[in-house]
Amino acid sequence: MKQFSDILDQRIFSKGDICRLLVSTETDGHQQLIDKAYDVKTSVVGKKTYLRGLIELSNICRKNCLYCGIRASNKLITRFHASDDEVIRMAVFAWKNNYSSIVLQTGEVMSSAFSSKIESLILKIHKETNQELRITLSCGEQTDDTYNRWFNAGAKRYLLRIETSSGELYKKIHPDDSLHSFDNRLKCLHSLKNIGYQVGSGVMIGLPFQTIEQLADDIIFFKEFDIDMVGMGPYVTHEQTPLSEIRDLLPLQERYNLSLRMIAVLRIVMPEINIASATALQAIEPKGRIEGLRAGANVIMPNLTPADYKKYYQLYDNKPCLGDTAIVCNACISGQIQYFGEEVAYGQQGDSIHYIRKQK
Ligand code: SAH
Ligand code: SF4
Repeated sequence: MKQFSDILDQRIFSKGDICRLLVSTETDGHQQLIDKAYDVKTSVVGKKTYLRGLIELSNICRKNCLYCGIRASNKLITRFHASDDEVIRMAVFAWKNNYSSIVLQTGEVMSSAFSSKIESLILKIHKETNQELRITLSCGEQTDDTYNRWFNAGAKRYLLRIETSSGELYKKIHPDDSLHSFDNRLKCLHSLKNIGYQVGSGVMIGLPFQTIEQLADDIIFFKEFDIDMVGMGPYVTHEQTPLSEIRDLLPLQERYNLSLRMIAVLRIVMPEINIASATALQAIEPKGRIEGLRAGANVIMPNLTPADYKKYYQLYDNKPCLGDTAIVCNACISGQIQYFGEEVAYGQQGDSIHYIRKQK
């Protein structure tokens, strides 16, 4: 049988190899895996962390994903919609603080008014920030026409998590209707790629019913899709959701450690992509996002949403830094990154090396 260290030194990984890495434990390989991933990261993408300022535009959503706190049927939350001025102010804050990139995230709304609104926001932000900010969108499933409009307006990156690459598991964590279609989500990812976006995806880790084999398939899915960026993190329950009723789950700490191993394995399998250290890691451990960097991630998304709205955008319970303003979040996370010993990549747009290579 192959030794654990032999698997780590390979360049090509079978599903069995990936499973073996994912099930490693504190006493059997976990740290070795994390250390290897950190070596790969520092030698390939550098000892630096890119910042993407996250602005949560609105928690209005037409969908009912069974795990998500802002699902349409949750009548217990206050819905909000940040004004253009508020969003632009936060984008300018990111720009002035030398971030070179922001992410605009929302619940999913599909209408021509919404398409136009996002399009005009992209144009206004570019104008106010001297075209120096890379804009990433995370606004769910849309038509090709909308994706094209937003791309042409200047958003060149898009995040759309596949949530799980298993169609079977996807069905268990979403309502069984046409609005929640695995095939459509996949189709959207392909559209985004064809249009020319730098495409990011991701999965939740430690979902009810999820197996290690399915997580290994997620890694293989990212590789086969030839993804440019990944943001993945632990599934964290939200008490006001149907999925929270399922208590037969991996304990929180195991979900956390498994998430770190998923990041580490992905870094080894796809050394040149950008990997975000998910905020959900920090819903479990105070230093979660820094530990994500140690496991191979190279992107952090400080939350720049106006503090008044942040509390209404809770996808899962225990969202970190809820009461903090953008100024506080910015100072706190950059300090933590530097203390950890990495350079904060101020002023660098940080396109994924994988994407740049594909363009050539
Ligand atoms: N509406 C858009 C973007 C906002 S949701 C979309 O769905 O793509 C962003 C991500 O939050 C989702 O893709 C999902 O992976 C994550 N998320 C939602 N609920 C979560 C939970 N309970 N635990 C962990 N992540 C969650
Ligand atoms: Fe809406 Fe996204 Fe939450 Fe699903 S995950 S309910 S699409 S915000």
